[in-house]
This record gives sequence, C-alpha cells and structure tokens, in this order.
Amino acid sequence: MAAVLELPISTYESVVEPDWCPGCGDFGVLRALEIAAGKLGIYPKDLMVVSGIGCSSNLPGFIHAYGVHSLHGRAVAVASGVKLANHGLNVVITGGDGDGYGIGIGHFIHAMRRNLDLTYVVMNNQIYGLTTGQASPTTMKEVRTKSTPMGNFETPINPVALALVSGATYVSRGFSGENKHLAELIAGGIAHKGFALVDVFSPCVTYNKINTYDYFRKRVYKLEAEAGYDEANVEAALAKSFEWGERIPIGVFYRDEQPTYEDCEPALRNGPLVGQPLGLSKETFDDLMGEFM
Ligand code: SF4
Repeated sequence: MAAVLELPISTYESVVEPDWCPGCGDFGVLRALEIAAGKLGIYPKDLMVVSGIGCSSNLPGFIHAYGVHSLHGRAVAVASGVKLANHGLNVVITGGDGDGYGIGIGHFIHAMRRNLDLTYVVMNNQIYGLTTGQASPTTMKEVRTKSTPMGNFETPINPVALALVSGATYVSRGFSGENKHLAELIAGGIAHKGFALVDVFSPCVTYNKINTYDYFRKRVYKLEAEAGYDEANVEAALAKSFEWGERIPIGVFYRDEQPTYEDCEPALRNGPLVGQPLGLSKETFDDLMGEFM
C-alpha cells in the first residue's frame, strides 16, 4: 500500500465558526472528522460533506471541503447522487438522529442494502435539539421531553442493529467524549469500501439532561478490548448491538468486504460520470442548458 501523506487539521479549517452551544458534543465530532481526513491525507477538493437539517447538520459549513446542506431527511439521497456522479470523491454524510433515523430512515436503509460507498456519521443526541427538545427516534423509554411530558412510551430505534440487518458493511459506534477513538472509527469508515455507519453518542448539553457526557463516560467500553470479539461475526455483532444499561459497547461492531454498488453499476466502469463524454452535440447541450439554467 502506498504511503499516505498525512495532512494537518488546519487544512480543513473553515472561515465560519460553529454556532453550536458551548459544550455540544458535535464539536468533538467535527474535530474527529478533521483528524480522520488528515490521517487519510484527503485534500479538501476530494472531500464532500453532505447534511440534512438540524444542529449537527450545520457541520458542512464548519469544515473546509465541498459541502451540501440539503433538505430535512434527504442527506443520504443527495449523497447517493453525488457519489454516483463522481465516485472518485470521498463522500461523508453528517447529521443527527432525528434527520437520519426519523424522516430520512427510508434513504438510510436503501443506501445500506445497496452498499453504496458512503460514510454516514450520525450525531445521535437522543433528542431534537434545533427545535428545542422534543423526543426523537432514539429517545429512551420513559424520558420526559417537551413532547413527552409524561415520559416517552415509544421504543427507540436501535441504529446499530438496523444497520446490521440492512446490509451495511462497516457498522460502528463512537462517543464524542472519546475523540481519538472516534477519529479512528471515522477514518476506518472513510477508508472502507462500502456503506459505513458511525453512530456517535454526541450529547446535547442544552436539552438532554439524561444522556450526558457523565452518563456515557460511566458506561461505554471498547469492543476492541473485549477478548475474542470478532468483528467479522454478524451474529456476535447483533448480540452486542442490544447491550444497553450499565455497559454500552463502542467501536467497530462489524466489518465485511463486499462489492459496492459502484463496482456493480456498468455505467461507472469507465470512471466517474463527470469525466465521461455526454454523447450530446454542442447544439443539444446548449439547448438543454438554456432550458434548465
Ligand atoms: Fe448542540 Fe443541543 Fe445546542 Fe443543538 S441545542 S447545538 S444539539 S447542545
């Protein structure tokens, strides 16, 4: 394997300062993404960050790379289009649990079963932060929020289990309070060929007073430190995905090498579509541009 020229995190410094609340877990995720991209030697011109809507979905504005701040729940769909148009790009999706596991869940599942070569970093704070504290798809049972004043009675989504049964080939979970570890997980996801999920415990310090940094610090443990844990064993990964309570696993649950959607799509065999001739005469091209621009 060719040696990688690592890049400093200043490579990705944006002119826009994050507007997150002081202490928000998303700061740690942004830093981990910068470290991961630098470690892999990815230049900003080769990195596209796509998001939906929510506090965490503001992230593309805070990193120096290509970016799309798209529509609520549509980040995976937009990222899929980007990847198919130019599969030479590293495409990272960033967003929250409401955006990805709520309105965007259909796109999430289909991208995983297609094994598109995308990395999805979900800042999972178990609450809707931008709209000031309503229950999200990952809010735990019995938790009181603005929208569940008597306690939440819905069963939360289990994103790791969902990814495992939907065909994702890299399934992981990190914690924004464990920055170096999280950067390794994100770098692993970007380097992986296929759909990579990095679900991240990213505390909302303003609206979630239950799932705090302390809550996770007391509970998380690393799968790689578990003797005999085999990340190629999907049944073992599924069993671990249901572990919750006093001990909560983080790390790579599952990793598998399978052909990607891009590998199988005949239209992409001659290289990225953006580099291929359109097969249109100049007149037809000009007519189309005139019609749509
Ligand atoms: Fe972060 Fe919560 Fe503030 Fe949003 S409301 S920026 S999620 S701490």
